[in-house]
Amino acid sequence: MKMVFRWLKEWLSGCAVPVSEISTKLSMNPKGFSEELLRCLGEAADDHVWDNRDEVMASRECICTACYFRFPPSAVLRWQDDGRSAICPNPDCGFGGSVLGDASGLNLDDYDYSMFADRRN
Ligand SMILES: [Zn+2]
Repeated sequence: MKMVFRWLKEWLSGCAVPVSEISTKLSMNPKGFSEELLRCLGEAADDHVWDNRDEVMASRECICTACYFRFPPSAVLRWQDDGRSAICPNPDCGFGGSVLGDASGLNLDDYDYSMFADRRN
């Protein structure tokens, strides 16, 4: 598994673009990430938001990529896919297939837009 994470990190870092190419679409993209980087982040997360029980439970912190709620693994009380995929514990959200744990090797801050804009509305 470590090989996979290392490969993922390298792949992800290969998607980074120079600051000069940063998107100016600040309303939908508050961190100024390029569309290429956003796409890479989304694809990287796709491998970790499903069938992620072991990874979530091995994490110190998790984030919901739908509502940006941050929580410890112990907050996850509901699972789907026969208990294999975490469901967001935020009562206003409840999405499945959106929970990302830091044991994925991904930087949760990259997925946290809540400090910059409220996209839940
Ligand atoms: Zn959520």
